Amino acid sequence: MLNADRTFTATVLGAPRIGPRRQLKRAVESYWGGRLDAAELHRVAAGLRTAQLTAMRDAGLDSVPVGTFSYYDHVLDTAVLLGALPQRVQGIADELDRYFAAARGTETVPPLEMTKWFATNYHYLVPEIGADTRFSLHPDKPLAELREALALGVPARPVVVGPITFLKLAKTTDGSDALDRVGDLIPLYTQLLELLAAAGASWVQLDEPALVTDLTAPELAAVETAYRTLAAATSRPSILVASYFGRLGTALPVLAGTGVEGIAVDLVAGGDADLPTARTLTGTLLVAGVVDGHNVWRIDPDPALARLTELRAAGVPVAVSSSCSLLHVPYGLAAEPDLEPRLRSWLAFGAEKIAEIRLLATALHEGQDGVAEQLGAARTAVRDRRTDPRLHVERVRARLAGLDAADLGRAPAEERRAVQSRRLGLPLLPTTTIGSYPQTSRIRLARAALRRGEIGTAEYDERMRAEIAEMVALQEEIGLDVLVHGEPERNDMVQYFAEQLDGFAATAEGWVQSYGTRCVRPPILFGDIVRPAPMTVDWITYAQSLTPKPVKGMLTGPVTILAWSFVRDDQPPAETARQLALAIRDETIDLEAAGTPIIQVDEPALRELLPLRRADQAGYLAWAVAAFRLATSGVADATQVHTHLCYSEFGEIIGAIAELDADVTSIEAARSHMEVLDDLNAVGFDLGVGPGVYDIHSPRVPSVAEIASSLRLALKAVPAQRLWVNPDCGLKTRGATEVVASLRNLVAAAAAVRRE
Ligand code: GLN
Ligand code: ZN
Repeated sequence: MLNADRTFTATVLGAPRIGPRRQLKRAVESYWGGRLDAAELHRVAAGLRTAQLTAMRDAGLDSVPVGTFSYYDHVLDTAVLLGALPQRVQGIADELDRYFAAARGTETVPPLEMTKWFATNYHYLVPEIGADTRFSLHPDKPLAELREALALGVPARPVVVGPITFLKLAKTTDGSDALDRVGDLIPLYTQLLELLAAAGASWVQLDEPALVTDLTAPELAAVETAYRTLAAATSRPSILVASYFGRLGTALPVLAGTGVEGIAVDLVAGGDADLPTARTLTGTLLVAGVVDGHNVWRIDPDPALARLTELRAAGVPVAVSSSCSLLHVPYGLAAEPDLEPRLRSWLAFGAEKIAEIRLLATALHEGQDGVAEQLGAARTAVRDRRTDPRLHVERVRARLAGLDAADLGRAPAEERRAVQSRRLGLPLLPTTTIGSYPQTSRIRLARAALRRGEIGTAEYDERMRAEIAEMVALQEEIGLDVLVHGEPERNDMVQYFAEQLDGFAATAEGWVQSYGTRCVRPPILFGDIVRPAPMTVDWITYAQSLTPKPVKGMLTGPVTILAWSFVRDDQPPAETARQLALAIRDETIDLEAAGTPIIQVDEPALRELLPLRRADQAGYLAWAVAAFRLATSGVADATQVHTHLCYSEFGEIIGAIAELDADVTSIEAARSHMEVLDDLNAVGFDLGVGPGVYDIHSPRVPSVAEIASSLRLALKAVPAQRLWVNPDCGLKTRGATEVVASLRNLVAAAAAVRRE
């Protein structure tokens, strides 16, 4: 049974850490550049933590997460905590430099792999575990951050990634199952719990988002053993096991039986399916994640209160919380004075979400009377959002309703291939690039000058045309077969389109961490999507006017635009994807009419939105594929449709890639040694494919021999008639010199293999 003074009523599962003005990004990058020393870096970090912790305390959270701060990534922090950094960085004496070496690599040491954190656009570093990994506890960071918080008078709850999730996210270097090592970790976690209790923690949060994925019976047994053992520790804080991003399902009763004092469930992302079980947990604190930590909409207080009240009536001790860490939303609306006021009134960023949590907790525990005014304001905002005409544009809805099967498919691939090959007359093994060329400082300066009003749009457009002309000339000189315009005018492949579509709004400071010091500013998709005018046609036709070689039109696909935006939550994402698809479809039709022979619709985020539970995956893939096909099937057979996919691990979506029915698919493959081609063959894929022949994530220039051997490897899986030659991904983050050298080698390698 919970001890009354050991419970709490209002919390969040974690907080953003980059700083409201991205101060941490600047400080860390300055440290890397040698312009800031470690002591100054630590000072900036401490300042950010202090501001954050006191703000959460002052906003009335009676339990505040601490230790979610990170210089780079919280999974990497956990690897450090558990002594699980790979051997290759162990020799680096300085602690901070060792940490950053694991994160980013050095001249001599490759970094840890990076991948997406569940179905979000945050990337974590993948711990590497091998037979030589000897776990050991290094608790300095959590202990120091706990003491710092307690000294500030903050009701601190240390947060640590839990053992199951840590091991499930790790990869082993010897083919073993990382979870087999859980027995080695539990004593370390036990020791950590005791240290935290001794330092004054009354609660600790162990993050276990991996428990919302499908777990096997042995995995569930490992969960049970791990938490039973931890709960049996003698002097420890109360344990909150935090799940998020989905439903716990069978893991919930298992956890509840282990003796942990609290369980957090995500009542936004499907965790409401856990409610019937949760209602029986009368001895455990249920940390109810009703406030969406992964999106920016103000909460409708009544349904949330109804759920919370029901739980309480069933005798469950309840605390109100965010559904996941606030890592995924911007700091606060205070930084957005210029947002259109009506839209602004519908939104809740980090600070506003904390206020919502306090409000709901007060209404739940003390009744609604004292907070009637704030509840009223929330209700008004929610009602107002429903009635804004921009959310229901009849013309868009009618068009979507009127689509039939003929609008969603093209002629058989074989027929398309014949007309396209007559039209394009490309050589065997055609060479191309993925779209972007290096975003030079010249390009960034022009964009900054435009933003500050130092140059007008005419001057800006002129400068971008000059960039395009230069890139086209360069590609001709290198000898590529299918050219691109280079995307100089695009700050970001989603934002660029969001800025031109109705139904989107942009923030000024709405940054969220993507990985390390890289932050993104997702646009807010709030209304029905309308394309008031063509978005790319002038740039592409200009590029095409400079060369007799075909130039690809370049678009971002509906699923990727959806994945990298904050999306409206008042209709299913599938419906929003259809609206985006319609806008992209109109753009393809305009590009085609302007003479563009090849159109590429990028979907690098197709994998990212894949639901965590297998049972939900087919439904998602069906609507995602349908959206792509709607976007790309409005053009004639003679127009060649390309798509581009990256971010590896295509396993579960390989069948969907075939169903996209793009004439040519360029796909990340260099790092996985072309294995993706066999996977594609296995699902009967027989369209054009350009497996990336070199890894653009590294500045290394691949040799002709290396690329040629990749191509020969690819030819074992794919006949020459279907094989394209291209890098792994866009080149915008690379330097100009290395790009030119790499592409020359790529063209030479293609020529050599063609001769064979
Ligand atoms: N066309 C985009 C580019 O070349 C694709 C980027 C991506 O795949 N993320 O930059
Ligand atoms: Zn890519």
